Amino acid sequence: MPTAGTVRKSPRVTAPAVQDGAASIASGQLSFFENVCAYFDKAAAFTRHPKGLLDQIKECNSVYSFKFPLRSEKGYQVISGWRVEHSHHKLPVKGGIRYSEDVNEDEVKALAALMTYKCAVVDVPFGGAKGGVKINPKKHTVEELEQITRRYTAELIKKDFIGPGVDVPAPDSGTGPREMAWIADTYAAFNPGQTDAFGCVTGKPVSQGGVRGRTEATGRGIYYALQEVCSYPEDMKKLGFSAGLKGKSVVVQGFGNVGYYAALFCQEEGCPVIAIAVPEGAIYNPKGLDVEAAFQHRKETGSILNFPGAKNLAKSTDALELDCDILIPSALENQITEANAPRIKAKIIAEGANGPTTAAADEILAKKGVLVIPDMYANAGGVTVSYFEWLKNLSHVRFGRMGKRFETTAYDRILRAVETATGKRFSEQERRAVAHGADEIDLVNSGLEETMAVAYNQIREVWKSNPKIPDLRTAAFVSAIDKVAASYMELGIFP
Ligand code: GLU
Repeated sequence: MPTAGTVRKSPRVTAPAVQDGAASIASGQLSFFENVCAYFDKAAAFTRHPKGLLDQIKECNSVYSFKFPLRSEKGYQVISGWRVEHSHHKLPVKGGIRYSEDVNEDEVKALAALMTYKCAVVDVPFGGAKGGVKINPKKHTVEELEQITRRYTAELIKKDFIGPGVDVPAPDSGTGPREMAWIADTYAAFNPGQTDAFGCVTGKPVSQGGVRGRTEATGRGIYYALQEVCSYPEDMKKLGFSAGLKGKSVVVQGFGNVGYYAALFCQEEGCPVIAIAVPEGAIYNPKGLDVEAAFQHRKETGSILNFPGAKNLAKSTDALELDCDILIPSALENQITEANAPRIKAKIIAEGANGPTTAAADEILAKKGVLVIPDMYANAGGVTVSYFEWLKNLSHVRFGRMGKRFETTAYDRILRAVETATGKRFSEQERRAVAHGADEIDLVNSGLEETMAVAYNQIREVWKSNPKIPDLRTAAFVSAIDKVAASYMELGIFP
């Protein structure tokens, strides 16, 4: 498997130089990728790296754009696809594949860049990448989607843009475990005998080499991030809050994999989820909504609207402006803009989506004193658990398989020793709660919780170490830039 610094054998499609990201934030007219570059430039000013190195980090290393035909009952159709590898400072590169009619090259580049910084922030040893296919998955049959996915994979294979040590895709909007299983199967068929073949993609079903906990990982990661952020009394005091997540009201935008689980875990922690916004509308109840019941209601009726006990909001985006403690935008990019930022009332924004806040809106929120937990940290739970899945695929063993029984027996022996020493007898229930070796899901969740806690403390330290660093996003970028720069320097590219 290639390691960091390995020279790739296939011809690469090189990206044109990016525009200087210092392009006016104030204009608010930046493309998504320019927006990410603007954030980068703002943070780069707080680092001491040479300009050449900063430019190398900022640019997309390879942009692969391609077309392929789809033959269906409707005739032939030409499908556009992309895979962008933003940074090869570590291999493999990693990032999801988005199926959407709105996908374009700029968006894929922006999302790939965010993946680089995201992986760096949570110490996941990958470079960043992203893929896109310009289709509306709802308008295709399952057979067509399978044909598109397998052909897209074949296009990646042709140019060496996929492989367990090269580039490892995952789900993003419009894709899920089913598509990942097709990708793994296609890659394995093209690479017979490659024992690590299933490490070519993550987010697979558990029966196809996936890992337990991946589905809910991004939402769970947001919840761990909020727990960590809210645990600092001095930071919470500045927002007029007491420490702790419990009791803080939540509004969530997006009710897919990310928004649904983030809302569910927050509700379980004792946070009233007062509004849920989706494309067809939003529902609101200041006392809190039952997240699971709302999910079932949408599944059964095909719409979130008219949920018993809740008020329908006229416009879905009205939910973003509700009076609440925490807003979790977990739909798509560019949701909080110059236009609505002045009306946002939330004190904390946890970015579940990638790029939900434009750079111009971010400045407005900063002036209002809103604590924005940036996407590259807040939604990093997905790629963190993808990393665990990749490790599982390369090691060919389920987490916990070797140690679980041993741990259970050891804890049981300790309980018996305590019983002998004290004369106390533990109930079966007490015994089961303590004498329990770790399963795969226990290890995945504990690894995720630890990752989110450590990463936040690193970002917060950068933020607090320099009073001129204005916000958490800039601090997260500084932390990411420093880590990627260190990698380049270790490779001897920028001594
Ligand atoms: N698409 C997800 C993200 O934006 C997951 C990426 C991955 O697991 O590689 O973070």
